[in-house]
Amino acid sequence: MSTPGYVYLVGAGPWDPGLLTLRGRELLERADVVVYDYLANPEHLRHVRPDAERVPARTPTGRMDQSELSALLVSRAREGRVVVRLKGGDPFVFGRGGEEAEALVAAGVPFEVVPGVTAAVAAASFAGIPVTHRGFGSTLALVTGHQRGDAPDADHDWDALARMSTVVFYMAARRIGEIADALVAAGRDPATPVALVQWATRPDQRTVVSTLAECASDAEPLSPPLTVVVGDVVGLRDRIGWYEQRPLFGSRVVVTRSRGQQDGMAARLRELGAEVIPLPTIAFEAGDPDAVDAAVEAVGTYDWVLFTSANGVDYFVDALHERGRDLRVFGSARVGCIGPATARRLARRGIVPDVVPEAYVAEGLLEALLAEGVSGRRFLVPRAAVAREILPDTLRAEGATVDVLPVYRTVPPQVDPEVRGRVARGEVDVVTFTSSSTVTHFCALLNRAELAAVQATVKAACIGPITARTAREAGFDVAVCATEYTMPGLVDALVRWRSG
Ligand code: SAH
Repeated sequence: MSTPGYVYLVGAGPWDPGLLTLRGRELLERADVVVYDYLANPEHLRHVRPDAERVPARTPTGRMDQSELSALLVSRAREGRVVVRLKGGDPFVFGRGGEEAEALVAAGVPFEVVPGVTAAVAAASFAGIPVTHRGFGSTLALVTGHQRGDAPDADHDWDALARMSTVVFYMAARRIGEIADALVAAGRDPATPVALVQWATRPDQRTVVSTLAECASDAEPLSPPLTVVVGDVVGLRDRIGWYEQRPLFGSRVVVTRSRGQQDGMAARLRELGAEVIPLPTIAFEAGDPDAVDAAVEAVGTYDWVLFTSANGVDYFVDALHERGRDLRVFGSARVGCIGPATARRLARRGIVPDVVPEAYVAEGLLEALLAEGVSGRRFLVPRAAVAREILPDTLRAEGATVDVLPVYRTVPPQVDPEVRGRVARGEVDVVTFTSSSTVTHFCALLNRAELAAVQATVKAACIGPITARTAREAGFDVAVCATEYTMPGLVDALVRWRSG
């Protein structure tokens, strides 16, 4: 007998990828089949194995009806597969998870329910509203704005709802006027505050605060999904709002570093409230193997080995290991590096640099080396195939021998067409550039008209003066230039600019 399948009804939470439960993630990793809702963030699907089947429960052309959906879950499970039914928020809160569970019971298919953060709680929290608070009564109701068959909400006991301290409405976007009227008719004060939270927990979350008397007209510009919070707790938002108050909230920031280098910066930007649009403009690959072979043999004969990027460190040390060698090949060669990020990468790879300059550009390293005396010395510089020549040229002019070793080279990256389209249409606010090559590669991703349109509206934020000059020469309006030429320095400068 084959292993019986299993169905997991998993709550995906409201949207923010961090609000999926650990159990939910674990099951997505195990799933053979994932059937997902449009209110569940598609980003969760990155946990799913590439060979797993992915089925949208709703497509641009229509949605599966409930019986079709339940039948799909049952049939896939009967084939012995692990099925995850990923639902927005919590599966059992206005999510028809109950109906799906009934169908599974009827079919004899085993299942598990994984709760999720429901929209009422998520929307209120992210709008800075505690759904309950001792100072504002002690009852909370979760209410749907429309019911089975789209009939008016004749079933709601409006008198009871009008007496609740906090009432949160789901699926109410089109009925806000009727709902507010019904509450007021049942005795609720028309001045009661109302918060309308659209796309809660997304970087483009929008909250409009109104009153029962005014909320129907105030809701007009807001399309679903919308969560409506009614009650005096809404007033606390002024004091304890936190999400929309973050310094970069509402900024759509393009990160152009290579895929492997983005994480730290993207995470920091998100923490500060920015929406991060990852558009890697560069990818890397290892340099000419023969040149690297020769350099690995000869490292110990140099006086200095200079690293100008974290990437150079990784490619060089990896090349050593691939050739069955280790750090002992450095022998008595001293090690210099261009700045703190490169120094940290060296440390992580087991090398303590002999010099780290004060200023984080090639000029800073040069100054430090010149102070040590370079004439007659031999330098090895493992770096990108194409890079600024100032370091080797100046050292040579001072009487040094310099061998540049191209341990890696930049190649065009795989670009996500959706992300590219979004950037090309100018649906972003800031592009961050962390090197001159990110500028030139960014420009190469767009055609002339697109680039001109982007440059007319989108600001550039640059890691330092050299990158800023390249960006300006390429036609960008450089609104932000870091004063400390590091990734955190760039993020700080962006925050200062936004708050200034
Ligand atoms: N099971 C889901 C609710 C599904 S009903 C849950 O527990 O959250 C769909 C309704 O949920 C929407 O009409 C809206 O009222 C609310 N909703 C879901 N996601 C939302 C979001 N990100 N922002 C605001 N409201 C949301």
